[in-house]
Amino acid sequence: MIIDGKQVAAKVRAEVADLVREMTRQGLVPGLTVVRVGDDPASAVYVRGKRKACEEVGMRSVEHHLPATVGEAELLGLIARLNADPETHGILVQLPLPKQIDESKVLDAISPAKDADGFHPVNVGALWLGKPAPRPCTPAGVMRLLDEAGVDPKGKRALVIGRSHIVGKPMAAMLLDRHATVTVAHSRTEDLAGEVGRADILVAAIGKAEMVKGAWVKPGAVVIDVGMNRKADGKLCGDVEFVEAEKRAGAITPVPGGVGPMTIAMLLVNTLALARRAR
Ligand code: NDP
Repeated sequence: MIIDGKQVAAKVRAEVADLVREMTRQGLVPGLTVVRVGDDPASAVYVRGKRKACEEVGMRSVEHHLPATVGEAELLGLIARLNADPETHGILVQLPLPKQIDESKVLDAISPAKDADGFHPVNVGALWLGKPAPRPCTPAGVMRLLDEAGVDPKGKRALVIGRSHIVGKPMAAMLLDRHATVTVAHSRTEDLAGEVGRADILVAAIGKAEMVKGAWVKPGAVVIDVGMNRKADGKLCGDVEFVEAEKRAGAITPVPGGVGPMTIAMLLVNTLALARRAR
């Protein structure tokens, strides 16, 4: 089975649009404010996509674009103003930030109650404690894909490859919360092939084109490929060797069209939830 992220993301967006319509009728338009610093072309594309998605579901979308030379104090000042603004329900600072700015200081300055990405330490703590809070969008999107594919992680051996704050670690927490037996692999893991071979659910979030070989995959496993890598011919590919893995997997996400579309959809879910909580 190919897990169709585009289809699931469209379903999530339609659900969000319905709820936004209802809230708007009651006089509250959920709003996401994106802060972009400098002129990184990839950031510009991502922010455009996020704003378009907001507008399509009827949310208010605001962008603050600051020059690459902006000082940390000025950026923190903007975050403080947004924290106090009642029309801003979600705040997202597009990463990466220029070198003169301490990224974690900026992310920590966002009010946890407006943290659309779910990266604030308070919300990370809430995730590990199993308390409600905005969840990091990419792993939250993976969980929704598993649910839609009818995959229950309970009791399954799940392997997460990657331990970043935005994907690997929160992914492990979410799978653990759903009662999977979770292993986290990383660049120092010995015998990655062996670990992959034991996994009923494999989530690859490495950032290395087709590093996970199809022959390693346990027959019948569910394979979720978070990786987004650009090949020499300009085409996108994942961290898993799709053509070979597809032959062995019970279900697998393609790249593109798997996890990617879910990330923005879950950002909308988070913003909506933050607006509801603010009300
Ligand atoms: P990071 O670079 O922050 O983390 C990569 C992780 O992979 C690290 O934990 C690293 O280990 C591990 N790793 C690197 N090499 C190996 C190896 N040889 N064997 C095992 N583990 C290894 O990346 P992100 O988590 O931010 O992103 C991962 C991928 O997911 C990227 O391709 C990114 O583009 C994609 N992505 C896709 C999104 C989407 O919406 N689809 C959203 C976010 C990311 P160590 O910690 O030891 O260095």
